[in-house]
Amino acid sequence: MASRLTRCANTWAINGGMGGVIKEFFPYEYLNSIFDIDYAKLYDKGYRGLIFDIDNTLVHHGGDSTEEVNALFKKVHSTGFKTVLLTNNDEVRVQRFIRGIDTLYICDADKPDTRNYLKALKVMGINKEEAVCVGDQIFTDILGANRSGIASILVDFIRSGSEKKIGKLRYAEKIIIKLYQMSRAYKSRLGDIQDMHNKGLVD
Ligand SMILES: [Mg+2]
Repeated sequence: MASRLTRCANTWAINGGMGGVIKEFFPYEYLNSIFDIDYAKLYDKGYRGLIFDIDNTLVHHGGDSTEEVNALFKKVHSTGFKTVLLTNNDEVRVQRFIRGIDTLYICDADKPDTRNYLKALKVMGINKEEAVCVGDQIFTDILGANRSGIASILVDFIRSGSEKKIGKLRYAEKIIIKLYQMSRAYKSRLGDIQDMHNKGLVD
């Protein structure tokens, strides 16, 4: 009975019973990592700019960039994308991170405030329908993108080896992700953009 009630409550919440508030937290897509995104497919769909969070999205919090991440940026740039790193972290952190990456960036971004999402569009010279934001946090990256009218991809957060605990916000995120996965209207709004090669599902 309880689970039936929970299901009813969830359906009600997903379908806008909460005044549609919950949908502000729903990403357009949810994948394991930045390497699971098929960027060529996104480009084919008309997207031209990528807004990336840094910490826990590209590398673990405070980490330097890696060969794989540097190569990924080279790949998306050669596909034709413009990129902006949008981070609440400071200039020193970004300068250290981008040593091997040729990209625009906005630091001290105050996400989920929309102001710097709109600035990111401006510096890339694209409109909001042409941008996709990629981040690991629902309450900053995804919320800000939704409020700015920008599509978003949530990825699982990267933890450093020594990081064992996860915070309360991460538990709240898990609940929202469950609701998101149950919502037919909001799930996978970007269509088929998963990189099957990376999953080893295609030769
Ligand atoms: Mg992050």
